[in-house]
Amino acid sequence: MSNYPSEPEFEQAYKELASTLENSSLFKKRPEFKTALAISSVPERVIQFRVTWEDDKGAVQFNRGYRVQFNSALGPYKGGLRFHPTVNLSILKFLGFEQIFKNALTGLNIGGGKGGADFDPKGKSDNEIRKFCVAFMTQLARHIGADTDVPAGDIGVSPREIGWLFGTYKTQKNLWEGCLTGKGGTWGGSLIRPEATGYGLVYYVDLMIKHASNGKESFKGKRVAISGSGNVAQYAALKAIELGATILSLSDSKGAIIAKSDQGIQPADVQAIAKLKVERKALTDLLTTSEYKDKFTYEEGARPWTKVGKVDIALPSATQNEVSGDEAKALVEAGAKYVAEGSNMGCSQDAIDVFEGNRKEKKGDAIWYAPGKAANCGGVAVSGLEMAQNSQRLSWTSEEVDSKLKGIMTACFKNGLDTAKEYVEPSAEGELPSLVAGSNIAGFIKVAEAMKAQGDWW
Ligand code: NDP
Repeated sequence: MSNYPSEPEFEQAYKELASTLENSSLFKKRPEFKTALAISSVPERVIQFRVTWEDDKGAVQFNRGYRVQFNSALGPYKGGLRFHPTVNLSILKFLGFEQIFKNALTGLNIGGGKGGADFDPKGKSDNEIRKFCVAFMTQLARHIGADTDVPAGDIGVSPREIGWLFGTYKTQKNLWEGCLTGKGGTWGGSLIRPEATGYGLVYYVDLMIKHASNGKESFKGKRVAISGSGNVAQYAALKAIELGATILSLSDSKGAIIAKSDQGIQPADVQAIAKLKVERKALTDLLTTSEYKDKFTYEEGARPWTKVGKVDIALPSATQNEVSGDEAKALVEAGAKYVAEGSNMGCSQDAIDVFEGNRKEKKGDAIWYAPGKAANCGGVAVSGLEMAQNSQRLSWTSEEVDSKLKGIMTACFKNGLDTAKEYVEPSAEGELPSLVAGSNIAGFIKVAEAMKAQGDWW
């Protein structure tokens, strides 16, 4: 790690995983796994490339493009593409590293990777975004493929961009193959893929609630704070509403909207926000009408956690490090019982320390925290199912895919729970197991064993 002093996000992700392994009995039982951890922290391959494209004025523009092919022990590299001005190698290495163990937790045969560009889709025309996608894939196509590396969407990359990227790959390679997931439902995409991360997150939290309450409680009647208003946040909100919860908030990079009435944010509001986001507009644009001004208060530049009042469930679903230590304390004070990350590394290490400390201290009455690796694995899981459908040249029904998604989320939850019980000594009787430690250890063991079998370490 000392060779990478300027990669703060990657170091944070590495330390979070390493500390849970070190604080468990794993290295006592299997000391050789320390070698596996060190080796798995170095990507198999990092590809960096220049993307030049023409804007609407005919002027040349350029961006930095990347693909981190982190680990292929379990299958082809798999992980999204992020188009956002903050993208750099540290962020993509953190996302790729997390992706390895998340993908292992899905139980599917997919390795871990991540990519993207420091391109900002905001303020660009559809024509400019399409041109950028063509230029980006012109460089990336030679490095990916259905059995090599299968990217998907992430922040700033929606099904529209996947379509343009796919068309470019196909033209370049003269090959129709499942080289990307998140494709359109009528041309090779899996049904339920757009919904999968948000739905899977809610299925996972439902399992947490049922486990912690011995089956007495569910989403019904729960007050849920959500951050973000993109793909993950929208579908998490819709599924939670369907299960009887009240959505207190959504947010974007400019601020948060908080529902004024006890009804919370309604499905029609989420649809209106989805339409707005396709047009790359801000939540503030919604508040220009009196209908929405009456429904929501707007907190400029703020995240929702300290603004929602009494809350039962918090689902960070925007970006990394979007819950600080102080915000975590505020959530505990506000009565939150469940926190699960829709976003990757949504909680800062300080926030995780607050939640995990509370879990140990308060035992049965504690807040229960689920890391993104486990709670948001539904998206990549259905991407894995999309790869299977493409290979078979078949399309499964929504019901089939949804039922498989539920099965995967259930297995992932049980795996984290059982592994925590096996490797982490509870500090007191009645303590809820650490889902962060259990999920990290379960994912790591699967990857480390496969790497050893393939001669990556010995
Ligand atoms: P989208 O681009 O659809 O939405 C992102 C949302 O987060 C937008 O509301 C955006 O605001 C907000 N946001 C982005 N950056 C920031 C920032 N720096 N500060 C505050 N808000 C920000 O992305 P997704 O919904 O797909 O992804 C959200 C998170 O979920 C990411 O962490 C992603 O890695 C993770 N994830 C996504 C999966 C998927 O299947 N899509 C799978 C697993 C994890 P604005 O509209 O103003 O830009």
